[in-house]
Order: sequence, then structure tokens, then C-alpha cells
Amino acid sequence: MKTWDVIIIGGGIIGLSISLALRKKGVSVLVVERGEPGREASHAAGGMLVDCLIETPAALQELATASARMYPEFAHELELGSGMKVDLRDQGTIFFPSEHSHLDPTFLSDHALPISLAHPEPTLAPTDNPAFYLKERSVDPRALTQAAWHAAKNRGVDFSSGDAVTAINLSDSQITGVTTTKTSFLAEKVVNCAGAWSGQIGPHRIPTRPVKGQMLCLAMHPRDLLKHVIRTPNVYLIPRSDGRLLVGATVEEAGFDKRTDPATILRLHKAALELVPQLRDARILGDWAGLRPGTPDALPILGATPTPGYFVATGHFRDGILLAPITAKIMADVITGAEPDLDIAPFSLSRFS
Ligand SMILES: Cc1cc2nc3c(=O)[nH]c(=O)nc-3n(C[C@H](O)[C@H](O)[C@H](O)COP(=O)(O)OP(=O)(O)OC[C@H]3O[C@@H](n4cnc5c(N)ncnc54)[C@H](O)[C@@H]3O)c2cc1C
Repeated sequence: MKTWDVIIIGGGIIGLSISLALRKKGVSVLVVERGEPGREASHAAGGMLVDCLIETPAALQELATASARMYPEFAHELELGSGMKVDLRDQGTIFFPSEHSHLDPTFLSDHALPISLAHPEPTLAPTDNPAFYLKERSVDPRALTQAAWHAAKNRGVDFSSGDAVTAINLSDSQITGVTTTKTSFLAEKVVNCAGAWSGQIGPHRIPTRPVKGQMLCLAMHPRDLLKHVIRTPNVYLIPRSDGRLLVGATVEEAGFDKRTDPATILRLHKAALELVPQLRDARILGDWAGLRPGTPDALPILGATPTPGYFVATGHFRDGILLAPITAKIMADVITGAEPDLDIAPFSLSRFS
């Protein structure tokens, strides 16, 4: 029976990115995905690569900064490895802080420039609210995840799609593989990357929970109506190069319910029109909801567990697209016994025990 060095549970952006980083180190990998890779949170995401001190939890700042720096190379590698485009954009963000935002003067002088709205984004409704320009990038998470999936296949990562992992198998407290609804697979190491569902699998309690986000998609007319990401306290707008405009997003405790609610989508639509009145001509292309993997302290869970050979990379909450490159690098080091460049002690599963 075939065996692998590592089995990854979950083919979202986190599992796919780790599979690629492991293959680069010569490790054989099987990704076991219960549906089709990249159809859950990673499919629903906006793709803002927000690494700014204002909104990122302080404990996450080092990871966020490192991951944002890695993005151009990460995206380039995925594009080369898959032959697909991921729409990494670096036009930046126009950021309207809330009254309650703590605007650190050092941050403002290093990262943000106060702006005159008329110049960078003329279709924004006039406002007296202060705005800042942030040098953040954005990416299309659907394209990114598809590219990661194809790049992984091209690099020799194996996939089992369509069956959920139901158990992680142990013999004498050592990992031996996983059981799915139809079969079992052998490996001495297993990584739980099952996103919001991570807590449903395995020998240890992983305190992830689903945090629902609803989103709306419009077709801009003209296609480059907006060039920057716009972030306000009520709503954000993310333009794509093909003319789509994402309007997001709610943050809801609603269990594993992925239905959208017409009143909520209407509220997002109205908030977008207030911000950019010219969007009244924009066609509605669709709406959806996804489940972010939340944790009790809103920080990810990364690294080894008390069971030798069993690892976790989950709980990326609102930042999993941003944090994919650094998570992949750290996890590939940890799984192969190398010391990661960054201190991951604050993200250990043991902080919840
Ligand atoms: C509306 C919304 C907007 C967002 N915007 C942003 C943003 O702008 N920037 C950003 O950085 N992040 C954003 N996020 C967060 C980001 O999407 C997530 O943090 C990230 O996608 C998590 O990736 P993942 O691979 O851990 O989870 P997922 O993409 O959910 O993947 C987990 C996978 O595990 C599989 N799985 C589950 N159980 C099993 C099982 N038993 N067996 C096999 N497979 C299993 C699932 O089918 C799924 O494919 C947003 C999320 C939402 C919902």
C-alpha cells in the first residue's frame, strides 16, 4: 500500500500552500479534501493583504509583515507553477479609519499618507472624513487557490478529493495515517488544515469555530471605475482587474450556516452606493457567504501538538490569504524538523490547554 511522508487534511489555501512548501523540500505529500480543493473560506475571501498596525492584532504583526513581503514571490511562483494568473494588485488602499481607531503616529509616518480624495479616486462621494493611503496589495483568492492547486499537482503533490477525513490513526501514540469515509491512507505525519472544521477531527481539542462572512459582487462600469481597495468602518470595496468589485463583509457568529440573507446583502449594496454613487449602474454578479476559521483569541494555531507526528495549521480567521506564504514556510520547517525563522510560541495549540 502506498505511503506518504505527510498527509494534509484540507485543500484550502493553507493546506495547498503547505503542500507546495513541503514538496520543495523533497517531501512526498497527499492532500485529503472532503470536497473540491479551494471551495470554502479561501473561495469566499476578499483577498486584501492587510498588514497594517491599525487592524492587525499586535501579536500577529511580525507574521503579517513577513507574509506581505513574501507575496510578490509567492504569487509569481504559483503563476509559473500553474500557468494561471492570480491578479496580485499593488494600487494600494484608501483607508477611512473609524472614530475609535488608534492611529499610532509612528505608523502613520512610516506607512500611511494623508490624501486628497479628489486625486486618487475621483468617483468616491465627497466626505470630510480623514482618509489615508496605505501601500497594501490585494489578490484574487479564487484565482490564487486554483493556481496553488494546479501548481501543487504539477509539482507532484497527490490529491484525494470527495471524501472527508473521519479519524486520525495512531498506533502506540504514533501517527500512522488517516481514515476517510471510504478508505484509509498511510503517513507518519499528518497536518490538520481543515479551517473552520479543524475542531471536528483528531485526538486533541482544537478550539476553532466558524465566523460567517457575507459578500456581494458587482460589475464595475467602466471596468476600472475604482483602482484602489477602499476600506471604511462599514464596508470595504475590492476591485479586480477584470472589472469585478467585491463588497464585503459581515462578521457573524452563525454556526456552520453559509446561506446569505437578502437584507444583509442589500445593506452592503447600499453602503457601497453611498461610498461610490456611480456604482448605481453596476450589475450585481452574485453574493455568497464563507466560514472563516476563528479561534478564542483571534490568532492562528500553528505547529506541533502533544502527539508526535501530528501538526496543526488553522485558525487564520480574517487573514488566511495574507498569511498563507509565511504559514507554509513555518510549517514546512516545523514538519521537517528545522527551526522556523520566526517565534511561533504565541501560536501554539498548548496556549488553550
Ligand atoms: C467573507 C470573507 C472575507 C475574507 N477576506 C479576507 C481577506 O480579505 N484577506 C485575508 O487574508 N483573508 C480573508 N478571509 C479569511 C480567509 O478566507 C481564511 O482565513 C482562509 O481562507 C483560511 O484558509 P484555510 O485553508 O484554513 O480554510 P478553508 O479555505 O476553509 O479550507 C479548509 C478546507 O478543509 C476542508 N475540510 C474540512 N473538513 C475536512 C475533513 N474532515 N476532511 C477533509 N477535508 C476537510 C474543507 O472542505 C476546506 O476545503 C476572508 C474570509 C471570508 C469568509
